[in-house]
Amino acid sequence: MARMRRLCLLVFLMTPALVVSAQPPQPQRLALAGGMVLDGYDAPPIHNAVILVDGDRIVRVGSAAEVPIPSGYRVIDTSGRTMMPGMIELHAHLVLLGHGEYTRWFPWIDRQGRAATLPKVMAIAARQLLMAGITSAVDLGAPLDEILATRKAIDAGQLPGPRMSVSGPWLTRTVAIFPADYQIDVKSPEQAAADTERLIAAGVDVIKAHAGLTRADYKAIVDAAHKHNIRVHAHLYAETDVRNALEMGVDVLSHAGSAGTAPPYSQQLITDIVNAGRPVVVTAAHRSWVHPDTAAFPERLQDPQLKKDMTPEIYAEVQDSLKNWRALGYFARTDREIFFRERGLKQFIEAGAVMGMGTDSGTPMNFHTEALWREAKAHVDMGMSPRRAISALTRIGANILGKQRDLGTIEPGKLADIIVVNGNPLYDITALAHVETVIKGGRVYKP
Ligand SMILES: [Zn+2]
Ligand SMILES: [Zn+2]
Repeated sequence: MARMRRLCLLVFLMTPALVVSAQPPQPQRLALAGGMVLDGYDAPPIHNAVILVDGDRIVRVGSAAEVPIPSGYRVIDTSGRTMMPGMIELHAHLVLLGHGEYTRWFPWIDRQGRAATLPKVMAIAARQLLMAGITSAVDLGAPLDEILATRKAIDAGQLPGPRMSVSGPWLTRTVAIFPADYQIDVKSPEQAAADTERLIAAGVDVIKAHAGLTRADYKAIVDAAHKHNIRVHAHLYAETDVRNALEMGVDVLSHAGSAGTAPPYSQQLITDIVNAGRPVVVTAAHRSWVHPDTAAFPERLQDPQLKKDMTPEIYAEVQDSLKNWRALGYFARTDREIFFRERGLKQFIEAGAVMGMGTDSGTPMNFHTEALWREAKAHVDMGMSPRRAISALTRIGANILGKQRDLGTIEPGKLADIIVVNGNPLYDITALAHVETVIKGGRVYKP
């Protein structure tokens, strides 16, 4: 079965229409010149700047006066715009495209023929993320073979997409919300450790500890993962779960702060998270902001970009699932989440927690094309400075992935993952919706 899926993915990847532009020309010498640089540090911008790229790496950055452009460099004019590191999405789901109901979406994929359709869905999602300026992303929940095949196709340059870190199926003690092979049911800490080892041996980059786990489960998973220098991201809402994960050494606290379950968290918990330096990825926007923003502007569901990105069948199915979006089960608790959304997010911002940005992109109405700038806007609206938000989207994200040597800032020696946005995100963070140029590893993917 798995082999057949891989074969179908390969066939799909070789379909000429879909490999066009997957692989831009070889990296070369590039000079991005004229615009403002935000380098990913919480520091003032460099105006009228030049970034020099040689192959896949950044070699120099500074003002035009300090950095002359040597001959032999292809110049990309960035005048009037902002250059910054490619953004890092810490919580995406490539198997989802914003469809309204999991209990309808996955059976629909099966009816189309999962072996061909699921890779197609993941390819669309990966491309959407990259075109939105996301050059690295973490996928936190997908069947193992398919997500590894997609990551491999991206790495090989056969599919346009971000550098993917993937968890494969998550470990949980709760009932399935996705099909069975999207999760591993935990029955004991020993088994959780064995499954963690098995996932790592298969090649995952991170482990996702989903809901319902005990302290002993967390400990077993974390110990097994850390033996291999693999980080554990946990899916958490209730204070006791956050406390258990924190104390058992879970590396990234995901969803904490977006609970809608009688927050705020106790001051002691927030203090302990901040003092431990433990990263938090709130995933604030996906229900609490996306729902009211859709009520205010339901036209967003028909953003023409979505139609362009998807096949006609997938687009029709997603649209049909959203016809009566207010009644979707996914938003059943959204009133309460909206009530608590400010306190849930502000308590981490104001306490000075280490915060990365992740969106749960792909969940209902939470499109890969825009989830990350919406998340950044929620953070800024709740008091995070735009400069700090941009470092959360870039440098802090790279730290959370453990890839700070290569990613997250515009500095000599780093990989040339650079985006150009129209406007000044320090003035208006939604300028991040206007990504005009995407460069990953020195290759220009957009335009
Ligand atoms: Zn989750
Ligand atoms: Zn998720």
